[in-house]
Amino acid sequence: MKPKTDERPGVVILATGGTIAGMGESGTRPGYTPGQIAVDDMIAAVPSLSQLARIEGEQVASVGSQDMTFAIMTTLASRINALLADDAVAGIVVTHGTDTMEETAFFLNLTVDSRKPVVMTGAMRPPTALSADGPLNLYNAVAVAADPAAVDRGVLVVMNDRIHGAHSLTKTNTTSVETFLSPITGLIGTVIYGQTQYFRGPFRRHTDASEFSPAGASTLPRVDILYACADMPADLVDGSVSRGARGIVIAGDGNGNMNAPTIERAALAASRGTVIVRSSRVPSGKVSRNIEIDDDRLGFIVSDELNPVKARILLMLALGKKRSREELQELFYTY
Ligand code: ASP
Repeated sequence: MKPKTDERPGVVILATGGTIAGMGESGTRPGYTPGQIAVDDMIAAVPSLSQLARIEGEQVASVGSQDMTFAIMTTLASRINALLADDAVAGIVVTHGTDTMEETAFFLNLTVDSRKPVVMTGAMRPPTALSADGPLNLYNAVAVAADPAAVDRGVLVVMNDRIHGAHSLTKTNTTSVETFLSPITGLIGTVIYGQTQYFRGPFRRHTDASEFSPAGASTLPRVDILYACADMPADLVDGSVSRGARGIVIAGDGNGNMNAPTIERAALAASRGTVIVRSSRVPSGKVSRNIEIDDDRLGFIVSDELNPVKARILLMLALGKKRSREELQELFYTY
């Protein structure tokens, strides 16, 4: 970042695409294409950002977040680490689509090596829509990134006046601006027209205390997610194993359950070295060991508070090193 010229904190906005940079044909038609507007135009559209911070923008990617990849996430984490090592940079904002925002947030929470604020934001309505939510979300995200009180709270997501933690948030509504919730442990805080208030810090290990880094994260092992349902076909497990999955996360019903035939195939896969993690398709609540399923006997791991997509990311990073089943289980209680 350019050297300091005044007392305002320096904030770099890294853009990756999403609806916040989308374009639609009209203000009232629902159709649009994400990732069309360049970062400098996005910044220019909110002139009041310059009252909060000295702003610079960089375009890292231009994708709808349904097309987010680990290669882009790794580039993002490395760039954030390099920028935050610069004394002129107080914090980072990442603009991102909302579809996979929680995945990138959790990946960055594990791989960014700094206590300075990293704040993600996006929009549910493109800038061309009536009552677009992107400009105020961007303003609030910059306010949090520039706020010394946001230091050491892990990677944050600011949307619709709420400050969520990377570990807790999840997308819950396909169209509403109030889509993100932190159902198990609640909000980190709120930000109303740039005024911040914090309720808590993150409870789990993150960022500079994490043992993970972006190095090597673009060649992560395959981990599949299988969605449990009534009369689930058990051979889905065999399909994943035969395609080279080193781990399988079961988006189980209830407390991470699956039917008896799937338990049998999963236990066989576990005995042959595939890591089986029981998570849940239910949006809230922990998955605990040995409730209805004898994890100790069958060799399964539970995801604790992580939903299936975040459990997959933790397992992919964890498999970069040889670890016992007990060590893998411990990671799910730690991160
Ligand atoms: N599909 C879009 C994306 O994730 C949705 C959004 O940004 O809200 O990029």
